Amino acid sequence: MSELLKMTATQARKSLLKREISSVELLNAYQTAMEKTEALNNYVTPTLEVAKEMAIKADKTYAKGNAGLLAGLPIGVKDLFCTKDIETTACSAILKGFFPPYESTVTSNVWKSGGVMLGKLNCDEFAMGSSNETSIFGPAINPWSKIDGSDLSSGGSSGGSASSVAAGAALMSLGTDTGGSIRQPAAFCGVVGLKPTYGRCSRWGIVAFASSLDQAGPFTRTVEDSALIFSAMAGHDQKDSTSASLETPNFSEAVNSGIEGLRIGIPAEYYVDGMDTDILNLWKKGRAWLEQAGAKVVDISLPHTKYALPCYYIIAPAEASSNLARYDGVKYGKRIEKESLDAMYEATRADGFGEEVQRRILIGTYALSAGYYDAYYLKAQQVRRLIKEDFDKAFNDVDVILTPTTPTAAFPIGAEIVDPITMYLNDVFTVPANLAGLPGISVPAGLSEQGLPLGLQLLAPSFREDRIFSAASAIEKQAEFSLAPVRAAGDLQ
Ligand code: GLN
Repeated sequence: MSELLKMTATQARKSLLKREISSVELLNAYQTAMEKTEALNNYVTPTLEVAKEMAIKADKTYAKGNAGLLAGLPIGVKDLFCTKDIETTACSAILKGFFPPYESTVTSNVWKSGGVMLGKLNCDEFAMGSSNETSIFGPAINPWSKIDGSDLSSGGSSGGSASSVAAGAALMSLGTDTGGSIRQPAAFCGVVGLKPTYGRCSRWGIVAFASSLDQAGPFTRTVEDSALIFSAMAGHDQKDSTSASLETPNFSEAVNSGIEGLRIGIPAEYYVDGMDTDILNLWKKGRAWLEQAGAKVVDISLPHTKYALPCYYIIAPAEASSNLARYDGVKYGKRIEKESLDAMYEATRADGFGEEVQRRILIGTYALSAGYYDAYYLKAQQVRRLIKEDFDKAFNDVDVILTPTTPTAAFPIGAEIVDPITMYLNDVFTVPANLAGLPGISVPAGLSEQGLPLGLQLLAPSFREDRIFSAASAIEKQAEFSLAPVRAAGDLQ
């Protein structure tokens, strides 16, 4: 079994094409891995019966010679993507019992390419959080947690997506990133997480959090696998008016294209107080690795960076308060009957939304209300523009920007949930890319003093994911990060 689990998606695809292994065999190995890692609480709704049908179908396409890009590859899906006739909860009580009558465009693209759906993965409620602890299903546990130590957070909001890939319980997975929810958990769990350019992947059928920031992206074990699945996910969609009308290039070609002469920017403003020294050292190492691979490193400035976090925590809750107005006990999931309509709304929303979601709705409603709109929401939008302009200017001089992904390694469950501001600080390096709509990746690049994974982040101009793949691959080669979480399903090395 563990031989099958050791394969990357690209390797598995090669073996499937040669008919050395079958999709059904691969699925069986992952099914066992899911059972072995059940204690990590990654899957909220396993879909193994559907998976079996998909794997059988994939094997037929290999026999016929018309297998799609992802045929037979076992993939987990964040429970924020609507999946037709399969419960989709956004890990919230208010959506319990919601079986969408439609499939999101991104998941639909993945299944059309032959991907096999293992199940729906745990996440923070409505993707709000950085630790997966706001989920009604409880936290997804980081497989790097020591057997005898306290359980570590897998990060969030896409905690289950990161943890399942790191633990070998999914070959690849899908997540979403509004302020860092792909890159931060990827860094915490030691896997590759890509947030594409805003507009590259359709948002249609994804439970909306903050519509001007949300983007779907993949979790994988390697950069090459990231390019593979991303090529299948991306593409224009008429059903999402913000989806870009662009051809999807073959991103796999970019992975090994080298970075000779590529200009890498190091932004001064990303040196922040409270950053762990091992992260600082890793950042320096990353810089040296890229130079050794032929890139030219340039010091740059992104002067408005310090406003990114406050700006995000106005804009994201404002959009969330509007998006979440639809959960009123009438159209979806939960409803608490009361004597009047208003009382029913109140009771349903008070009971159905968790504490963090209610906090965001209150902040957002406040920031959008008459009298405060100009002072908060409008101001935040103006600052957002300045942040975007910082990047535009920087990208005149550099091709890619290198930063750490997070200011710390994974923290124990319970350590930060008590203080929202501490939790929000997790996103300090990731939110600027969302505000500016830029693509970003987190690549596992080293270990902290405590032996926990650390990630480096690469950012590029809009629609230049190709550059991200080239630079990320150079880091991956030099970092030689070997995947070895203690609580994985088997020996993954
Ligand atoms: N941690 C951030 C938040 O809580 C980002 C979440 C996300 O990207 N979905 O809003």
